[in-house]
Amino acid sequence: MSIIAENLQAVEATIAGAAQAANRPRSSIQLLAVSKTFPAEAVLEAMAAGQQAFGENYLQEALDKIDLVARAQPGVAAEWHFIGPIQSNKTRPIAASFQWVHTVERLKIAQRLSEQRPPELGPLNVCIQVNISGEASKSGAHEDEAPELARQVAQLPNLRLRGLMAIPEPETDPALQRAAFARLRALAERLRAGGLALDTLSMGMSGDMQAAILEGATIVRIGSAIFGARHYE
Ligand SMILES: *Cc1c(COP(=O)(O)O)cnc(C)c1O
Repeated sequence: MSIIAENLQAVEATIAGAAQAANRPRSSIQLLAVSKTFPAEAVLEAMAAGQQAFGENYLQEALDKIDLVARAQPGVAAEWHFIGPIQSNKTRPIAASFQWVHTVERLKIAQRLSEQRPPELGPLNVCIQVNISGEASKSGAHEDEAPELARQVAQLPNLRLRGLMAIPEPETDPALQRAAFARLRALAERLRAGGLALDTLSMGMSGDMQAAILEGATIVRIGSAIFGARHYE
């Protein structure tokens, strides 16, 4: 078995264990394999092991990889999620090449994604990225501004607002990890009570997926636990 297949098995066991501890069905949690900085071969290896959904942060790298994977596996559709910061002049290729965008933090970006989404692809699934760690983190909509942003995004014709996403400050203490995720969950519950049909909490990475699942994560975004340590150029 390849190392990626072994790692996927170990991550699967962790997710299943956390789901059981949380009294949730395993099927309520989607594993997003974060393949940034790793080559198309790594994605193909993960696909051979049964993984279907992949997350990417850097647009050009992602577009090249999506193309290589599609050529290598013409019959098998991978699902691509954009999870990196979005510059407004890069929305068109994102709208055309991804099924999901997790990192909407401004209305202007959402409007552009909606306008530029090719209609034949159907609505683009989006999450609002929320800054739940305060000043320490620079990305994400402010918690107080997220409800209004969510209401506006939900109105855009070619987007489907699915839920909220957060990247809390790294913490090793599981109680502190859970406290941050609980804030995102509470915010999503307030938005639901206000009438928005949200079904997604994108939260939890290699170091805190158990805490995220205990707090209701429906998508965990896992990179290094699957593909190994990243080396940036
Ligand atoms: C890189 C990245 C991940 C994966 O992080 P790991 O710690 O390697 O699991 C998840 N989410 C986002 C937004 C990322 O940028």
